[in-house]
Amino acid sequence: MSYDVYIDFAKLLQKAEKSLMYVTDRPEIVFTKGKGSYIWDHKGNRYLDMIAGWAVCCLGHSPNVILNALTHQAQRLINPSPSFYNEPAIEFADLLTKISCMDKVFFINSGAEANEGAIKLARKYGQKHMNGAFEIITAWNSFHGRTLATMAASGKKVWENLYSPVPQGFVKVAYNDIEALKQMVSKDTCAIMLELVQGEGGVIPADKDYIKQVRQLCFENNILLIIDEVQTGLGRLGHMFAYEDYDIEPDIMTLAKGIGGGFPLAALLAKNRVCCFEAGDQGGTYSMTPLGTAVGKAVVEEIIQADLCVNAKRMGLYFKEQIFRLMEKHAVLQEIRGSGLLLAVGLREEMANQIKAACMEHYLIVNTPNAKSIRFMPALNITTDEVDEAIRILDKVLTQLS
Ligand SMILES: *Cc1c(COP(=O)(O)O)cnc(C)c1O
Repeated sequence: MSYDVYIDFAKLLQKAEKSLMYVTDRPEIVFTKGKGSYIWDHKGNRYLDMIAGWAVCCLGHSPNVILNALTHQAQRLINPSPSFYNEPAIEFADLLTKISCMDKVFFINSGAEANEGAIKLARKYGQKHMNGAFEIITAWNSFHGRTLATMAASGKKVWENLYSPVPQGFVKVAYNDIEALKQMVSKDTCAIMLELVQGEGGVIPADKDYIKQVRQLCFENNILLIIDEVQTGLGRLGHMFAYEDYDIEPDIMTLAKGIGGGFPLAALLAKNRVCCFEAGDQGGTYSMTPLGTAVGKAVVEEIIQADLCVNAKRMGLYFKEQIFRLMEKHAVLQEIRGSGLLLAVGLREEMANQIKAACMEHYLIVNTPNAKSIRFMPALNITTDEVDEAIRILDKVLTQLS
């Protein structure tokens, strides 16, 4: 911790105010160090981190697995350019195709980029094999990213006219409503794109029946099913991929968040029959980087070797049990949603921000996807002791606020 003493905090905050483009409000602290489920601020305060870099640091903060992969690869080769093969990208793609139902992989750096690629692939497929069908049906309350097209695909009402003109070709339907979806399918439809749990939307799981029917609808109409597993993939729900839990196979799948364990990395995956990009259709200077894919491979190997899917499932169940106990004591807690380590507590009143702020004062970091939900998305290797600690703090905070 010693070097933290040398940070002139007041000056740093002044610089932030002066030099960082404003996009959001942030608390007046600077995080300087992280290890496992804990993160330290500039004053040396230690916080229990239940957001893990936004469902990203799936192995916890600064795990040796990532440090080793990064330093090893950085010493060898950082970037030969995306126009040449590199070993980590090939090996990691091979691994992902072995552990999933997908055949081909393209690597980029963010979830939005992966989804943008999925949209392009579906439209290309529509042009080539579906008489020019281009429309993609998505769900209200969904989140698919922040590029212009992925914002247009997202079902957030407040984004409707934020950066108009809006890219065309997206239509929205109510989530978990198969009739609404059936009515929207037309000769123009090339794909349906869904999350299996709406993460940013407040941890709203899809019904299993609904997803089975969506899969069937896609088969019957020869429409592609794109599953956005940016948040749900890589063990988050207690399965390597959420589609396993739903007993279906997508045609196209996107991954990001957990895939790099905190390092920027994302993947677009598809079945062979869907892959129809021609030379020059897709690319990116920072696609297929050896550094990112070396980290991704190390992260996924660790998820497998350390059995983190099982831990996520077990800890998720344990967490839920503890929340149920808190519910008996605190009337404001209405329900618990989600599975594995993507969980949200639904509140009876709009107290989420108040609870988040109070948790922060007790050195617990939680997330509030909306005014009536508290979301937890900790590291997949979290322990029962750490869950107990989170519950203790939450209990204290709720007692204080009642
Ligand atoms: C976070 C998220 C995205 C966007 O990923 P970025 O890396 O922020 O671009 C897309 N889809 C889902 C389901 C997400 O949770």
